[in-house]
Formats: sequence, C-alpha cells, structure tokens
Amino acid sequence: MEKWVGVLVLGLLCACASNKVRTQQPLVSASQQKSDSLTALIKEESKLLQKDTVLLEVESDTISEDNGNTVFRELTPEEKLAEQKRTGINKSANWASAIHYDNRKPNFVIIHHTSQNSTAQTVRTFQLAHTKVSSHYVIGRDGQVIQMLNDYDRAWHAGKGKWGSVTDMNSASIGIELDNNGRDPFPDTQIDALLVLLDTLKNKYLIPQLNFIGHADIAPTRKDDPNVNFPWKRLAERGFGIWYNEDFLVEPPYNFNPIDALKIMGYDMSNPEAAIRAFKRKYIRTEVNGVLTARDKAVLYDLYRKYY
Ligand SMILES: [Zn+2]
Repeated sequence: MEKWVGVLVLGLLCACASNKVRTQQPLVSASQQKSDSLTALIKEESKLLQKDTVLLEVESDTISEDNGNTVFRELTPEEKLAEQKRTGINKSANWASAIHYDNRKPNFVIIHHTSQNSTAQTVRTFQLAHTKVSSHYVIGRDGQVIQMLNDYDRAWHAGKGKWGSVTDMNSASIGIELDNNGRDPFPDTQIDALLVLLDTLKNKYLIPQLNFIGHADIAPTRKDDPNVNFPWKRLAERGFGIWYNEDFLVEPPYNFNPIDALKIMGYDMSNPEAAIRAFKRKYIRTEVNGVLTARDKAVLYDLYRKYY
C-alpha cells in the first residue's frame, strides 16, 4: 500500500505537469507516456479502494450466516465508527493519502443538567443501548468528575438545535452533564469542579469565551437546562460565557433591535418567544417568559455592545 501511495503522489504531481505539456505538441514524448501510465495507476488504485469499500460494507452488515441465511444484528459502536470512516471516502474522486493530519478539536462546551436523581443513574442511562444519549463528562453534586467519552469523540448530548450558523452541535462540542434534578441549586463543590474542568478544556482546545453555552441556548423550544439556578455570572467572571454590567445598564438607542441582537448572539429566532425565554432564564432569572421588559432590553444591549 505504501508503495502505491508514493506512486500516487508522484502521479498527481506529474499529471498536473503533463496537462501543460500537452499544449506543446513537439514535446509529447517518453515523459508524456510516463505520466499517462501514472494517471492510469491512480485510476487503478482508486478502483481497488472502491472495491475494498464495497467488500467492507457487505461484511459490516452481514454479521453471520445461519444455514445459508444471512443473520443481521446491530453494529457495535466500533463497527459503526469504522463504517462511518468508510463512507467518508468519496467514491467519485481519486484517492491519494495525505500524511499530515490529526483529529478535529471541539470548539464549544455545552452545559446540561441531567434531570435525574444521582450520578450513578446518569452513568447507567448513558450505558443503556436504547437511550441513544451520552455526554463526555458527568459531574456529581459532590464534585466528582466522571469522563465517559474521549474529548475527540462525538457524544450524543445536544440533539436537534443550532447556535449561530452551527447546525451540528454534537460535532463541534464537548457535553458536560451536571447531576441535578432540574430544579435544585447547584452546590459550590459541583461548580468548583466544573470550573476546573472548563479551565482545562478552554486551554487545551482554545475554546472561545463566547462558546461556553447551555443546552437551552441551542434548543430553546425543547430544553431548559441548565436550570435557572445555574451560576452563569460566576462562570463569566472566570472567562466562560458572558455577563453584563449590573450597575451601569443604559437604555438602548431607539434603533436597537432586540430580535436582531439575539440572533447575532447565536439564538435560533425561528421561535422568538422560546429564544427570549432562554435568554431570560439565563440572564434575568425571574419572570422567565417570552416578553422582554425595558430592563431586559437594557441587559441585552449591554451584552451586545460588550461582546459582539
Ligand atoms: Zn441537556
């Protein structure tokens, strides 16, 4: 295989050069013939890759044979990943392996509450086959941090939702679940542990301050987590997410449009009331409804001019 790849890279370079040569008739020569044969080799290698892919696809679906009848079963997570990698190869293109690459990094952190009664219950939930949900981290009320997936893996925590123009939040984010029944305050021990984890993630993956958000931010019609007691202000003071200047709020100018401001912040405004509710749950924390008061607008304006 390595030999093939070497030939392919040379072949690609030569193929480009040969296009130029073709316009100069007298120079059609041994070098032209050589590059043509290399182009043929690329095509051959591409065919082989496609053939391999087809075989592997069949193998992954056909798990066993029972008296000549094919028996199917659900693929394991490892098999699913392998299958996904295979489908990432574009069959209509030629293939020449590049050698410089690594994993894509997360660029958002999404914070959740579990709506369950214990860390153990949540861990169990993420290990049951039928639930189809997971997150990278679970943090207990006692500050215990449990990692359940590699940071580079795509957890299933965000679901349908968007933030700005990012429509596949699972692909772009780390999910952190805080053990919480959906109503209680979050103990300091739990938040202290969260802040340490956020610090690590922010430094390791260079995640921007604005990209530490809540589940309700990206799915305001479906979700309300983390609940109204979550200390976003404390997080913002440490550089995770944003907060406003409570002592110096000013009336927004006459042409300030709150709906546009929310959209620019990232909210999906297809349901404005839901987005406003999410905004108020996070920054206002009282009278969580779909209507912006004069003070709410001043808060929004302060955030808008400070960070956007
Ligand atoms: Zn959630």
